[in-house]
Amino acid sequence: MSARIVDGKGMAAALRARVAAEVARLAAEHGVTPGIAVVQVGAEPSSQVYVRSKGKAVSEAGMRAIDRTLPVETSEADLLAVIGGLNADASVHGILVQLPLPKQIDAHNIISAIDPAKDVDGFHPLNVGRLARGLPALAPCTPLGCVMLAKSVHASLEGVEAVVMGRSNIVGKPVMQLLLAENSTVTIAHSRTRDLPGVCRRADLLIAAIGKPELVRGDWIKPGATVIDVGINRVQVDGQPRIVGDVAFEEVAQVAGAITPVPGGVGPMTIACLLLNTLRATCAAHRLPCPAI
Ligand code: NDP
Repeated sequence: MSARIVDGKGMAAALRARVAAEVARLAAEHGVTPGIAVVQVGAEPSSQVYVRSKGKAVSEAGMRAIDRTLPVETSEADLLAVIGGLNADASVHGILVQLPLPKQIDAHNIISAIDPAKDVDGFHPLNVGRLARGLPALAPCTPLGCVMLAKSVHASLEGVEAVVMGRSNIVGKPVMQLLLAENSTVTIAHSRTRDLPGVCRRADLLIAAIGKPELVRGDWIKPGATVIDVGINRVQVDGQPRIVGDVAFEEVAQVAGAITPVPGGVGPMTIACLLLNTLRATCAAHRLPCPAI
């Protein structure tokens, strides 16, 4: 293996510690405690794992977690009423709605009902538009984490040839916007892209967010490139459950210059960036300067 392993877990722990220090300062100097509401409809086991780990991270950062777990049969109108209550509650600075929602609820309607200033997931159309326009915005957490990981390898992303695999609203498109803001040259690849390996081989920075276990192979990689693997895929290996990324790690690590592992790469950074967004939303709500973290 020649690639440097980018330690997302360590970076996330350091970021969480910096956020926690700022949270303590906010409490001591201004009597403000950031509050984040985690809204979950139904108790789907895979979502519960995420909700629990988010709740733990929120508490560890010194923030207040407000759990709003609702029954699976909750109507859209009832969920909108809950969101309205959280929007009006000045002690709530961030609102997180766990996706997917049950089929009787239109997720777009719910996300659009969140106060954009409390939209710590960065999914509200106003934040999406502001990000696209190059204005200050709450940006989605996974893309923020990807760019921080990339910047831990490249002192500057300016002019870097970046290929983003995947064009989802949650990962691919916002990663593209954040990289454009860093003055990278960005190509977006997706399921209709012709000669995907050839496109990937152009990349100095490859961000894989497609949800296809180990699709990206060693011979898709430009020697020395940085590879950020967003994929979380549950597979069986020798009858045992395992989580793998979108990148064939062992093979790609022979060619890449730097690579994020799965698990332990992008995942931990996503949660740390959620805390960072909540801190930023809290500072903005109280008209306090946002700390440079
Ligand atoms: P989506 O399913 O919403 O989007 C997948 C994208 O990949 C689509 O744009 C799709 O193209 C493209 N794609 C699918 N198959 C191929 C293929 N064979 N070749 C090229 N492109 C392909 O997924 P998400 O963006 O939500 O998530 C992507 C992955 O990232 C998943 O594994 C998910 O679990 C993981 N994830 C990890 C997070 C973390 O914190 N680490 C957070 C969020 C997601 P098209 O648009 O043409 O259909």
